[in-house]
Amino acid sequence: MPPKAPIDFNSVRQAFGDGPDLIRDWFLRGKHEDNPFEGFIFTWIAFNGWAERATGLERDTDWIQTLAVSDEMSRDFAELLDWNELAKKAVRRLMSAAPVFKSSWLRKKRRELHLSDSEPGGSRADQVDFWLAAPDVKANFRPACARMHRQQRDRLPFNWAHTLHAVYQVRCNLFHGEKARNNALDARFTADGRRILTAMIEATDLFGVS
Ligand SMILES: [Zn+2]
Repeated sequence: MPPKAPIDFNSVRQAFGDGPDLIRDWFLRGKHEDNPFEGFIFTWIAFNGWAERATGLERDTDWIQTLAVSDEMSRDFAELLDWNELAKKAVRRLMSAAPVFKSSWLRKKRRELHLSDSEPGGSRADQVDFWLAAPDVKANFRPACARMHRQQRDRLPFNWAHTLHAVYQVRCNLFHGEKARNNALDARFTADGRRILTAMIEATDLFGVS
């Protein structure tokens, strides 16, 4: 795990010019977009733009990890869940169904196993056990510690670090897997991820739009 890198929380909030203005524009487009998938994508583009400015890191996995271990963001997230019932519900729903598997890997496995393109039968917990037991599952899911929690019979913590990693996998699936749009579970992940991101950005006035 990389050491904690500094995060400039004011990199957009108190800044003007093309970069910060564009981030605010994407965020507002995302917030008002009717199509849930596009809404998520626009919101993510804004968040990604902010994160690169705030951390100085360009690789997704680097800034994701930096934000995930941020004490300030962890605290802000816990506070958000204290008062925002909708955000809390979205986190509970997403994290109860997590980990989020890489959709291209799931598609490949379903073809190999002659399963239909929807979920295998049974409860979500059964599905998660089924896919986590696949011999080549490797790193095809986030959060990466999901299997360890399962072996210890813990549920995934509903905290910032775990949630951010799950939402990041939702993002990867959306940007790379157009077929995922037909899957009801992916649609729910997308709606919850969008709600969580938007709520966190607004609660912390991350972009200076509220
Ligand atoms: Zn964990």
